[in-house]
Amino acid sequence: MRVAVVGAGLGGLAAACHLAGAGHDVTVLERDDGPGGRAGRWESGGYRFDTGPTVLTMVDIVADTFAAAGAEMDHHVALRRLDPAYRAQFADGSELRVRASRKEMTEEIRRVCGPRDAAAFGPFCDWLTELHRVEMPNFIDRNFDSPAGLLAHPLGAAQLVRLGGFGRLGRRVARHFDDDRLRRLFSFQALYAGLSPFDALALYAVITYMDTVAGVWSVEGGINAIARGLADAARRCGVQFQYGDAVVRIERTPAGRVAGVRSASGARVPADVVVANPDVPAVYRELLGSTPPLRARRGQFSPSCLLWLVGAKGHLPRGTEHHNIHFGREWEASFDELLRRGTTMSDPSILVSAPTVTHPGDAPDGGHALYVLEPVPNLDGHVDWTVERDRARDRLAARLDDLGYPTEIEQEQLVDPLDWDALGMERGTPFAMAHRFSRTGPFRAPNVDRRIPGLVLVGSGTVPGVGVPMVLLSGRLAAQRVEQAAGSR
Ligand SMILES: Cc1cc2nc3c(=O)[nH]c(=O)nc-3n(C[C@H](O)[C@H](O)[C@H](O)COP(=O)(O)OP(=O)(O)OC[C@H]3O[C@@H](n4cnc5c(N)ncnc54)[C@H](O)[C@@H]3O)c2cc1C
Repeated sequence: MRVAVVGAGLGGLAAACHLAGAGHDVTVLERDDGPGGRAGRWESGGYRFDTGPTVLTMVDIVADTFAAAGAEMDHHVALRRLDPAYRAQFADGSELRVRASRKEMTEEIRRVCGPRDAAAFGPFCDWLTELHRVEMPNFIDRNFDSPAGLLAHPLGAAQLVRLGGFGRLGRRVARHFDDDRLRRLFSFQALYAGLSPFDALALYAVITYMDTVAGVWSVEGGINAIARGLADAARRCGVQFQYGDAVVRIERTPAGRVAGVRSASGARVPADVVVANPDVPAVYRELLGSTPPLRARRGQFSPSCLLWLVGAKGHLPRGTEHHNIHFGREWEASFDELLRRGTTMSDPSILVSAPTVTHPGDAPDGGHALYVLEPVPNLDGHVDWTVERDRARDRLAARLDDLGYPTEIEQEQLVDPLDWDALGMERGTPFAMAHRFSRTGPFRAPNVDRRIPGLVLVGSGTVPGVGVPMVLLSGRLAAQRVEQAAGSR
C-alpha cells in the first residue's frame, strides 16, 4: 500500500516504522524542519532543552518501535535509568526520592515515613504490576471497533473490577499509605491523564506503574534524540521524508475515499491510506474541511501547562536531582482551581528538571539548563494569558529563587496556552482530550472513521492516549488499521 503519513511526531514516526517494516511504501510529510513534534529540542547560547516530554518511561515500547523497522534501539539512542526517578520536595522542606529498586524505595519510605508505610510499598507495587498486566493487552494496546468490543474480553474487565480499578485513585492509594506525602507521590500521575487523583478511576494507577515500577530514563540528547533515531531507522527501512512542507489538504475521491495529500508547496503525494498525526480536531477542520467527530471535540480537554526553559549561571541547590517535583502546601484545593474553576493554582506544585545533573554538556561551564513546568488551565479556563503571561513568569522566577535554583538567567523561553494553541493544539493544551473513562479505550476518538475510508489517525488525540509510550503504541495500532485496510481490498 502507498501510505502518506502527515506529521513526524512520535506517533507518526512509530506508524512509519511499523508500516515500513511490514513492507508498505511510506512517505512522511512534516511541516517542521526535523522530526519530533512536541518532543522537540531548543538550543540557545550553549544551553540545550527538551521542549516537551522529559520524563521517559516504558522504554521497552521504544525498543519495540525501533525493532518494527528492523533496528536496534541501542544503535540509535543512549539511555540511562534515573535513580532516583524523582526527588519530591514538600512544603515543609521534607524530601522523598523515588528510588529505582523496590528494596531501596522501601528503605527510603521507612526512613522518611516510618515502618508501616514501608511495609505497604511491596504490596502496592504488586497491585500496580497486576493492573498493568491486565490493562495493557485488554484496554491499552488494542484497537476497538466499538464500545461493545469491551464485552469481547469480559475476563479483563472482571479482573479490573477485582483489582478495584473502578474505585477512585486517590482513595485507593490512601488505603495503602497513611503518610500524605506518599499519597501525593503515588497519585499525582493522574494529572498526566488530565485528571485529578480525586476524580480519576483507580485504573489510571497504571501511569504510576510506568514511572514508579517500570522506571524513568534519560536520553543523551534529550527525548528528541528518540525521534531523530526513529526517523533514521525508518529512513533506512525505506521511508521517504519531506520536511519543511505542511500538508494543507487530504484529498479524496468523489466516493469519499482518501486519495493522497497536497502540501503548501503544491506537491501532491498520492496514497491509498493517509495516517494523520496532528491533533484530531485539526485533521478534520484544517485538512479535511469537515467537523470533527463528537468524541474528538466534546468532553473535557486536559489542563495545559506553562513551560519555562531557563539557562542560568550558578549552582544547583544541594540534593537537586534530574527531576524535582516541588509540591505546594495545597493539594485537593489546587485541583479544584485548575480543573473546576479554570484558574491558575494559588499554590501550585511544579516540576523542575535539571538535565545537567545527568548530562553536564547540556549547558556551558558554570551553567544549568532548567525545565520548569506548571500545570495551568487550558483555553476553556478563565485566564487572559496576554495579561497573565508576564506575571506567571515572574512568579515562577521568584519560586525558583526561593527554592535555591540559579537565577542569573542567560537564556529563556516561556510557552503558554496561547502558544500551544498557535501550534494547532486544541484548546491550547498539548495534552489532548483528558482520559475520563468516557474518553478512554473504546470511548476515545477512534483511529478510523467509517465515513472516510483510507483515513487513519495516530497520536495523543486518539487511542490509546497521551504520553510518549501511548503515542508510540498508537503508531502500532494505526499500522494494524492499515493492514486491515490492505486485507479488505
Ligand atoms: C511540555 C510537555 C511536557 C510533556 N511531558 C511528558 C512527559 O514527561 N512524558 C511523556 O510521556 N509525555 C509527555 N508529554 C506528552 C507527549 O509529549 C505527547 O503526548 C506526544 O509527544 C505527542 O506526540 P504526537 O505524535 O501525538 O503529536 P506531535 O508530537 O504533536 O506530532 C504531530 C506532528 O505533526 C506535525 N504537523 C502538524 N500539522 C501538520 C501539517 N499540516 N502538515 C505536516 N505536519 C504537521 C507537527 O509539526 C508534529 O511534528 C509532554 C508534552 C509537552 C508538550
